Amino acid sequence: MRKYVIMGVQGSGKGTQAKLLCDRFDLVHISVGDIFRWNVQFHTKLGAQVKRTVAAGELVSDELVASVVQDRLAEHDWNYGFVIDGFPRNERQAEFFLESYDIDGVVNLLLPDEEVERRVLSRRLCSQCGLDYNLIAHRPRQEDTCDVCGGALVMRSDDHPEALANRLRDYHAKTKPVIDIFERKEFVVHIDATPPKHEIFAEIYRRLELPPPG
Ligand SMILES: [Zn+2]
Repeated sequence: MRKYVIMGVQGSGKGTQAKLLCDRFDLVHISVGDIFRWNVQFHTKLGAQVKRTVAAGELVSDELVASVVQDRLAEHDWNYGFVIDGFPRNERQAEFFLESYDIDGVVNLLLPDEEVERRVLSRRLCSQCGLDYNLIAHRPRQEDTCDVCGGALVMRSDDHPEALANRLRDYHAKTKPVIDIFERKEFVVHIDATPPKHEIFAEIYRRLELPPPG
């Protein structure tokens, strides 16, 4: 059984790396963000609660995140282990989580704030069909126009510089004490998240001393 925590700021490719690790070892990807998005999309009671919170310009409480994660882990469908993403969010949760689960390692993806800004602020969304674009990695053929439906490309409402600066500040303030706890008790690998995704994965693989494929 393999149990990992993956941490990294928005735009660090955390979800991509978590999926690569899960695919390789048949692990379950437990992403707090995905769980919330699913609940919003399918109009559950939890989804309504998340929507109200976000609409009020607030962050979903740490307690709600903890209960969602506990419920998800209680499903016990992770026969070979899991990669958890978006949790723990504070020191108390980190302590509790470490006492309850025998974690094999923590992957911390590092990306300078300037690079986060460059990546996040280059994202665009088709206003008609919702397809994602990126002006760095996935440019539309015609400027500001969706390749598929011809719709206008727009920025996400929460991708503006000021909102992003706030999120980055919040992320660093909250993450630092959690990383400190992990460093005292668990094996943390700090990985540069600027190279291409397969290089990052190879580095995670090497640093976690994972068995060679095949
Ligand atoms: Zn479109």
